Amino acid sequence: MEICAVGGYSEVGKNFTAIKVGDEVVICDMGIFLPPLINYQGEDTELRGLSSDQLIKIGAVADDTIIAEWKPKVRAIVLSHAHLDHIGAVQFLAAKYRCPVYGTPFTIELLKSLLADEKVRLPNEFKVLNPNSTAKISNTLKLELLGITHSTLQASLIVLHTKEGVVIYANDFKLDNHPVLGKKPNYERMRQLGKDGVKCLICESLYASVDVKTPSEKVARELLKDVMLTVDTKDRAIFVTTFASHIARIASVVDFAKKLGRKVIILGRSMNKYLGAANKIGLVPFFKDVKICSYQGEVRKALKELSQNRGKYVVVCTGSQGEPHSILDRIAEGDLKFSFLEGDVIVFSCKTIPQPMNIANRKVLEDKLRRMKARLFIDIHVSGHAGREDLRDFIAMLKPKHLIPAHGESQMESALADLGVEMGYIVGESVHQMKDGQRLKIE
Ligand SMILES: [Zn+2]
Repeated sequence: MEICAVGGYSEVGKNFTAIKVGDEVVICDMGIFLPPLINYQGEDTELRGLSSDQLIKIGAVADDTIIAEWKPKVRAIVLSHAHLDHIGAVQFLAAKYRCPVYGTPFTIELLKSLLADEKVRLPNEFKVLNPNSTAKISNTLKLELLGITHSTLQASLIVLHTKEGVVIYANDFKLDNHPVLGKKPNYERMRQLGKDGVKCLICESLYASVDVKTPSEKVARELLKDVMLTVDTKDRAIFVTTFASHIARIASVVDFAKKLGRKVIILGRSMNKYLGAANKIGLVPFFKDVKICSYQGEVRKALKELSQNRGKYVVVCTGSQGEPHSILDRIAEGDLKFSFLEGDVIVFSCKTIPQPMNIANRKVLEDKLRRMKARLFIDIHVSGHAGREDLRDFIAMLKPKHLIPAHGESQMESALADLGVEMGYIVGESVHQMKDGQRLKIE
């Protein structure tokens, strides 16, 4: 068995791992890394017009030329979940491989929507697999997508059953015992896998250095409830911004808006994309209760109505990272003929992704909003990623023979390797820290 760390082992983004067993290869995730793309193109994140070679050169997608000789052996591309750092490069790289793309219904639906937006047609077949089900990839490879909690819907652990043992790819997850949408982790199955024997675990390390058990989404819901239902918002506008992919968070906003007797307006193209994809497969119980506006005209009309009846609505919109051209940014810039007034409430139900550009953008946006005298409530959020103590429990459940830290910069991966050492793993023997481009043989 050979594992190639193609992308996501030297940065947080462009996740791409190739697993070769005998003469067959499975690719887990094909993600994108946005910062280099934005540096290259200015603030315009339109991807059209760049070739895969250019994208590899600027570091926006993983350099899969390093597995060029494996290309004819690739039997499947398996996507763990619907975040762009896991699926965003499918449109540029998947056509090189003559194999199907597997994912849960939401992941595949969102992927199709991204491809349609970019007018990309791929030759690959899409194979939809429900969480907690299996598919035969070949005579010797069986795929199991094991449902897991994260910050978007239908995330899965990729469990690959091979003739040399079981490989589990765990990017991204948290162990949430009270999720707001979806089921809690399938601990029983995880323990069974551990009992039966796991050869190798490829595991996210983003928060491996943080000594916590990541709080449940239920905690974020309570934080949000506390702001929305106890702060005096009479006749004031209420805006909540979060990640468009975080459907469970939006569900909580909708519930509390109902308690306030307010209607929910959702603004922004990416919101429309994620909610639309989730609704297509019946995962958005509140869809009929909200109005989604993604086009310019609709957005302006909704904001005009809001400015006349501030106390009647709750707005959910883009701008959680201070992104230029997001709804919040355009309001702050005076582009949308809506102004915040003293006492209006803006809830940032997110964290700022710790990239210099996001941090700078958020600061600029917050400063503008404060000058408008809006009240800002920041960090009304919990993470979707496992903390160190979750990782300890997770590894103890699965008992892998080999542990490979993934999805992180080197200090994050070192932290997970250190945790492995605490748990009895030996560096270079059973815990293996890798960098983009490296390969590891496992006997
Ligand atoms: Zn994710």
